[in-house]
Amino acid sequence: MSSEIHLKRCPSCDQWTNSKLEQCESCGFEIHAARRAEVNKRREVDDIHIPIWRIKETDPTWLKVVKRPIQIVQLLLYTIVGFFIYLSTSLAH
Ligand SMILES: [Zn+2]
Repeated sequence: MSSEIHLKRCPSCDQWTNSKLEQCESCGFEIHAARRAEVNKRREVDDIHIPIWRIKETDPTWLKVVKRPIQIVQLLLYTIVGFFIYLSTSLAH
């Protein structure tokens, strides 16, 4: 019978340690903290507030006509920027 112990290499002291523990058995390094920080970083990237110039229902027709192309350009720009942010975070390993 084997008790299921999942081993993970500690990024701090390079020793194999039980991955179910929060901290490394050898040096006390929080082995899951780094992973958690990365997840939080990605969440922040997703949460970046994009100030799109929104078209309001109350806007006069001429303003809607003016805003529409600006909004499309903005969305395109943010899509491109977002894509590069996505690339930089997914390749940073
Ligand atoms: Zn360690």
